[in-house]
Amino acid sequence: MIKVGVVGYGTIGKRVADAILLQDDMNLVGVTANTYNYRIKTAAQKGIKIFPMLILDDEPIEDKVAIAGSADALIEESDVIVDCTPKDIGRKNKRWYENYGVKAIFQGGESSDVGRSFVAQCNYEKICGSDFIRVVSCNTTGLCRTLHALDSKYSIEGVHATMVRRAADPWDIRHGPINAIVPTLSLPSHHGPDVRTVLPHLEVFTTSLSVPTTIMHMHSLIVDLDREVEKDEIIDLFSNTTRVRIVKNADGIRSTAEIIEYAKDIGNPRGDMPEICIWEETVGTAGKKLFYLQAVHQESDVVPENIDAIRAAAASCGAQESIRKTNETLNIC
Ligand code: NAD
Repeated sequence: MIKVGVVGYGTIGKRVADAILLQDDMNLVGVTANTYNYRIKTAAQKGIKIFPMLILDDEPIEDKVAIAGSADALIEESDVIVDCTPKDIGRKNKRWYENYGVKAIFQGGESSDVGRSFVAQCNYEKICGSDFIRVVSCNTTGLCRTLHALDSKYSIEGVHATMVRRAADPWDIRHGPINAIVPTLSLPSHHGPDVRTVLPHLEVFTTSLSVPTTIMHMHSLIVDLDREVEKDEIIDLFSNTTRVRIVKNADGIRSTAEIIEYAKDIGNPRGDMPEICIWEETVGTAGKKLFYLQAVHQESDVVPENIDAIRAAAASCGAQESIRKTNETLNIC
């Protein structure tokens, strides 16, 4: 059993913790509490052990929930830490993990030198056994999953992708825009270079903009392939690619809103959709050019990657076995 601690119990951390609880080869040692809130209250009610960081609130957290020990105790008891703290804090925490000699998984908000960039279906075997792994961002994960599938079958000569990004997560009352479209004023956006930390040979150029929505990102891709292809071949390829889901207007799925409603209807916890969703009707070809639109559920697509990254860090099994186990437990196609 791999003993895993989660540091940072927010959007990603709470989902990763729940996913760890479903694995038969992992024990969740517990999670940190940076402050007391409804998330920590819920975790404690579920029986998850709480290890507070140094909290400067007036009222001590132990007056509100039972605590299992200090955050240092969590690090000491764990084989692998999944750090899900906000951007740049993981980098600072790395020294802490090094001092305890514990392996750590970081998230995509950290810069790429914090650990080896990881997307399970692209580079699990290369990363296996690493002390520090970085699960790339939700957008980079989405790009890597579909581009890797294409590149494995047809050599990709070049990619241009535009990311239409959600403004904030649904619970977040602080960020926007709420009535504007905000372009990223640098070229390329950081996503293309980030894809190359996983797929270094890929010629990929990205642009991005933020829009007033909270539920998903949308990517518009133009891919130059090494040969002419039929639309049906591409749909077949994506249908057979793990963690990619074909959705259809023919089923009444016409928008990101309907994808999330569908995720709720199929019983996914929190209405999560960890697969990258490609609309069948948006797949098109013109000579060697391929076009498609894909939707990315930012809160959940990296969750299976974190579970596979734990096994990769522990070098406990190969890529295929890990992906199979993760998919089965999280109901992923
Ligand atoms: P979040 O704000 O929802 O959660 C972060 C949690 O960390 C909060 O509970 C906060 O209290 C806690 N925290 C803050 N400082 C801490 C500290 N010093 N020590 C311990 N805990 C601390 O953030 P998130 O959206 O879950 O993002 C976490 C990471 O995942 C970031 O790198 C982000 O870029 C990445 N990521 C986020 C998304 C997304 O859409 N939310 C998607 C993919 C990757």
